[in-house]
Order: sequence, then C-alpha cells, then structure tokens
Amino acid sequence: MNKWIVAKFGGSSVKDAEAMLRCSNVVENNNDIRVVVISATQNTTNQLEFIARAGQRGDEDTLHSLINELIQRHSKIAHDLFSSEAVRKELDFLFDEIKFVGAEILKERHYTPKIMDQLYSLGERISSLLVSDLIRLRVPDRKVLFLDARNVIKTSSDFQKAEPQIDVIAEKARELVIPHLNAGGIVVTQGFIGKDLLGNTTTLGREGSDYSAALFGEAIDASLVQIWTDVAGIASSDPRLVKDAKFIPTLSYDEATALASLGAKVLFPTTLLPTKRKDIPVFVGSSIDPSLGGTTITKNQDQKFKLKAVSTLQKKEYAIVSFVGCHLDQAQDLVENLKNSFNDINVEFYDLTSVSVSFKIASADITNALLRAHEILVAKY
Ligand code: ADP
Ligand code: ASP
Ligand code: MG
Repeated sequence: MNKWIVAKFGGSSVKDAEAMLRCSNVVENNNDIRVVVISATQNTTNQLEFIARAGQRGDEDTLHSLINELIQRHSKIAHDLFSSEAVRKELDFLFDEIKFVGAEILKERHYTPKIMDQLYSLGERISSLLVSDLIRLRVPDRKVLFLDARNVIKTSSDFQKAEPQIDVIAEKARELVIPHLNAGGIVVTQGFIGKDLLGNTTTLGREGSDYSAALFGEAIDASLVQIWTDVAGIASSDPRLVKDAKFIPTLSYDEATALASLGAKVLFPTTLLPTKRKDIPVFVGSSIDPSLGGTTITKNQDQKFKLKAVSTLQKKEYAIVSFVGCHLDQAQDLVENLKNSFNDINVEFYDLTSVSVSFKIASADITNALLRAHEILVAKY
C-alpha cells in the first residue's frame, strides 16, 4: 500500500469558483492527496440530459439557451478563478463539442446511449479542467498532471452503465498515473467517465464518480479514498429529510454498501467494491467544512447487534424502507418488532440480511415511513 490518497469532489463541492477554491484548499492542506477526481458542476449532468431531450424534440430554442447557460456559467468560473489563456482555449474546444453533439441530436431528432455518454463526459471534462488549472496555480511547486480519465478507466461497451475492466485499469494506471505520483506530482482527473476497448466514451451510471475514485484508489494501491460532498459524512438518515439525523463516525464496507444500495444517495452503491478488495478505507466528509469530520468506512465490524441507519428506495410499483446495521440476522424477533412499530403505516416484510432489514411500503408512504423508521431507530436502538 502507498501513502497516496485519492480525493473525490462531488458536484456541489465544485459548483462555483468559491467551492472549487475550498477543494483546492483540501488538496493543499494534505500532501498525501495525489489523485483528485472531479465531478461535473452541480446540476450540469442533468442539464446535459435536458440538452439531449430538447434536441430529440426538435426544440432548437431550448437547446441553444441551455447550451448558452452552461457556457456562461463555466466561463464565469474561469473568469473568477483567473484561469490561464491555455485553459480558456481548451474550454472553448469543449464548448464546441457540446454544440456539435447538440446539433447532431437535433439533426437526427434522436440520441443513443452512446451519444449521451459523449455528451455527459463534457460535464466532467470541463469542471476538472478548471480545477486542475486552479490547483496548478495554487501549488506551483508541485507538478499537476491533467489526466483524461478515459485513458485509464477502461470499461465494457455498456453505455450509461459500463463495467470497469479492473486488470486493464491497473495496467493503465501503472503506465499513466503511478510514474507521475512517484515523481511527486498530483493528478487531476474526471469521475464518472471511461472508454471502452474500441475507444468510445462510456459512463459508469449516474452518480458514478464515487466509483471512479474507488477504482483509481484500487489501481494505485492508495492508503485512503476520500469522498468530499455537501454533508459531514454518512448519517442515520438523509439529513435533508430527517432533521435529527446523526452522523455515524465508522461503518463497515458491508453496512455502507447496504445503505447505498437501499437508497442512501450519499454513495454510489458499487463504490466500496474496489476499496473492499484492496482493504482501502473510505472517508466521507464535507468540503464545505472539512473540520466537521466525517464517516470512515473500513472492514472492521462491530461485535454486537446494532441498528445504525434507515433509508428508503423507490422501486417501480412500490417502495421499500430499510434499517441497516450489523448482526441483524441474530436479533430475536427483530422483524416482528420493527414491523409492529410502524403502527398505522402498512408495511410488509421484504428482506433480511446480516446488515439490513427491509419492508415493502406503498410509494405514497415513502416520506412518512422514513420519518417513522428514524423515530423507531432513535427510540428503540
Ligand atoms: P455529490 O454531488 O457530492 O456526489 P450527492 O448529492 O450525491 O453528493 O450525495 C450527498 C447527499 O446525499 C446529501 O446532500 C444528502 O442529502 C444525501 N443523503 C442521503 N442519505 C444520506 C445519509 N444517510 N447520510 C448522508 N447523506 C445522505
Ligand atoms: N456528474 C455525474 C452525475 O451527476 C456523476 C457524479 O456526479 O457522480 O451523475
Ligand atoms: Mg453523489
């Protein structure tokens, strides 16, 4: 294992120049952070979808106004960050690519998952370019390499849900990333995007930048993967919906994976697969205020039964509400007790594993069920 740390910054962490400066601060304050993985700026990936849809509808006005807004927003960041002339030129090429793909979709009145992946990639390519230039300015004594993640994150050709090719990624990292790290440099790159073996741009699935960070961590044998977001770690429930949710200092890979798979949006569900394979801890914290600390996820498991968090997940025809913790399959009457505690909310047993218990609920009950589940968690466990 190397001392190197991979730090990933999500969309809200890079939403404007001020936010990008906070990210640069995090990197400046820790010499071990050597790979920086950047998401598209907040809402840009959605906006790229709206652009594609406008093109498909033949709605030229909306298409152009969305593209112009995106260009203005990122040009303002470049201006606020005193980005170099070279970077502004590079940005113009990326803006031209958006216009080009937009025009193609408009002409065809159709877009494929493959074209969408090319369009999606521009969000991350733009934001990471801005952040790499900022870090280069702020740490002039360190060599900053702006890396196209697509040259390392090799995937299957399943557009929009591409499968990473772990062995090829390791080989590419040995060739393109590790020599630069050995020479003391910092690599700034994109989350979410990759390339298939034919050279087409692919993506790992919406919200997949966390997964990219973990894949980079695995490929360079990092000592830690940091996921910097807009909340101070993983909480007992979504802090946006549940006001008294409490942040959890430590979780096991299996608990955090269960929570992510059962609806907690804070982590992309497959993020912990590569890190678990290499036993690399994952830290989740807030780039808005890193001093608040966060959650550290490791292989360590608690010895005794404990419920730690709740989440909800919308399926097609119904929803599920889940409790996550450890040794749940050993607790007596747990399913029955939890089921009865929902009182007037109608819940039906769905699934039990050692780290989760889930109940099926009507979609209309989803918010109430989450609030009630959290009350049950706080009152009884
Ligand atoms: P990013 O853009 O940094 O990837 P996300 O929006 O994907 O950030 O994830 C962070 C959000 O996850 C938080 O703002 C929070 O609302 C949501 N969230 C859902 N469940 C949880 C949880 N259990 N703990 C913390 N955050 C959660
Ligand atoms: N920008 C991509 C998305 O919004 C990937 C990510 O941010 O994780 O889905
Ligand atoms: Mg996310």
